[in-house]
Parts: sequence; structure tokens; C-alpha cells
Amino acid sequence: MIPAAFDYVAPSTVREALAVLRSSAGDARLLAGGQSLIPMMRMRLVNPGLVVDLSRVADLAYVREHDGGIAIGAMTTYRTIETSLLVRERFPLLTEVASQVADLQVRNRGTIGGALAHADPSADLPALMVAADARILTRGGGRGRSIPATRFFVDAFTTALRETEIITRIVVPAPPARTGGSYQKLANRASHFAIVGVAALVTLDAAGVCSRVRIGVTGAGPAASRAQAAESYLAGRAPTEAALEAAAARAGDGIDFTDDLHGSAAYREHLTQRLAFRALSAAVERAG
Ligand SMILES: Cc1cc2nc3c(=O)[nH]c(=O)nc-3n(C[C@H](O)[C@H](O)[C@H](O)COP(=O)(O)OP(=O)(O)OC[C@H]3O[C@@H](n4cnc5c(N)ncnc54)[C@H](O)[C@@H]3O)c2cc1C
Repeated sequence: MIPAAFDYVAPSTVREALAVLRSSAGDARLLAGGQSLIPMMRMRLVNPGLVVDLSRVADLAYVREHDGGIAIGAMTTYRTIETSLLVRERFPLLTEVASQVADLQVRNRGTIGGALAHADPSADLPALMVAADARILTRGGGRGRSIPATRFFVDAFTTALRETEIITRIVVPAPPARTGGSYQKLANRASHFAIVGVAALVTLDAAGVCSRVRIGVTGAGPAASRAQAAESYLAGRAPTEAALEAAAARAGDGIDFTDDLHGSAAYREHLTQRLAFRALSAAVERAG
């Protein structure tokens, strides 16, 4: 199908893009890599009167050092993230997750800002963003906001973003020393979207006890979320197989499991627990 008719602008600054959004009374959509927006327009699931292309906006595509962690511009593609030496050095789990998204064509175009704003319930990056305590920085509507990823993903395809707000940057803090991470997903064979995906970050203290545990889950329910019951169970314990199993058994607590043609709710619950066990085990091994 071809999309409904729309107008198109390509501003060169964030300020100009924000002015266009404000004057379009909710009828405009931002275009980043187009990997989700264009298919949705072609299927006429969204029919914006105006498309605001961000590709000419200066200084939105970069990976930079930031307080020991990394700052990533919203228009940075998966491929740039996947191949960034800084990301590999500071936060190798992000390299690993980015490289598991879709295929090379999609990764060459799709951006981190577009992926987070789209908030597909099966997307990979959100699981890591919530686990990593990432912050999503925006401009628009007065002063800019710095939204914790844990509060950003509200529901399926629904975020804390306002209509007149643009994501400009994502800040991912450096994990503490002696932290290991792993992302485990059961991928849809055709699209590579996560039927369920679990990102785990485990920090061990000098005695080998889990001092900090972060677990992000995607695909299981309507929005990516932290598995806090599992995290609290494991924190302060030695990472024995029994402790990892008991933590993983709590990984689905609080999730309203999705039931669709890709998997029943019971299957997703089972996957969440098994993938949590694998992600925690691998994270502990890497932390050690
Ligand atoms: C064949 C295929 C396979 C895929 N497989 C996977 C997969 O395995 N895992 C996975 O996680 N994803 C997968 N995806 C989805 C894809 O990763 C992302 O949804 C996509 O890259 C979104 O980024 P984009 O830059 O293309 O955004 P666009 O499509 O341009 O925009 C998406 C949405 O975000 C909004 N937006 C864009 N930029 C901003 C901004 N800076 N501020 C505010 N709002 C903004 C747009 O208005 C739009 O609503 C797949 C997509 C395709 C086509």
C-alpha cells in the first residue's frame, strides 16, 4: 500500500523542528530512520498530515563519553552503536544488544531515538535501557526533561513523551566495576523481534556476593519493565545455581503477559523465567 498524502519538512535544527511540531496541532510525526514509521504509514495505521524529517538536524548522531558512561545522540543508528569502539569499551552489553536487532539493512537506518519513541513491546533496546538505568533526554514544552527509562515505557507503543517533545540524547551510565551483563532472547525467526528478551547486569563484591542486580524484560508484556522481585531476591546473596534459579522464578512477577499468535501468556511466562536464568548465569560469569 502507499501512504495517504502528507506534507514534508526537513528542518536543520531541533529548535526549528520543535516550532513545526508546536504549530501542527498534533498532525505531525517525526521521521528518523523510517523503519517503523514508514511501514505504519504504508499500512495507514498512522496518517500524519506532516512528516518532520530529522535527518538534516545537526548534531543528533554521535556516541560520546559522558561522566564515565556514554551519551548517544537520538539519530545514532544501531549500526553506529554496534560498531562504536567507545560503546564496546564502556558498555559491551549495548554492542551485543544492538547487533541482535533485526537485520543489517534495518540497523543501518534505524535509530536509537526512533526505537525508544516507537516503544514496540517486542523491541530489544528497551530491556537494556531499563536495566542500565539509562535516561532519555528530551527538548520541547519548556525546559528539557531527563526521563529515567524505567518511567519512559508506559504501555504498548506508548511512552512518557509529549506530542511536542523530541528525544535528543540517551545517557547510559557506566556500570560499577565487577559488573557482568548478558542479553538473552527468543527471537521471532522472520523479524528478529523478541518474543521475550531479558537483559541482566550483575555486580559482584570482593567476596563474590551479588551487590547490585538489574534485570530488564521485553516482549513479555505490553511494555519493557524491570524485574524488581528477582533483583531484590538476588541482591546480597552468593550467585549459586539455586539462588539464580530462585531469582529467575520471580522474573515474571507483576508482568501482565501478552497472549498472541507468537506465544501464549503461559509460554511467555516460562520464557521469561528461563531467559532470566540464562542471562543472570552469563552475567555472573562475566562479572567474575
Ligand atoms: C524488518 C524489521 C525488523 C525489525 N526487527 C527488530 C528487532 O529485531 N528488534 C527491535 O528492537 N526492533 C526491530 N525492528 C524495529 C526497529 O528497530 C525500530 O522500530 C526502528 O528502527 C525505529 O527507529 P527509526 O529511526 O527507524 O524510527 P522511525 O520509524 O523513523 O520512527 C519511529 C517512531 O519514533 C518517532 N521518533 C523518531 N525519532 C524521534 C525522536 N528523536 N524523538 C521523538 N520521537 C521520535 C517517530 O515519530 C515515530 O513515531 C524491526 C523493523 C523492521 C522493519
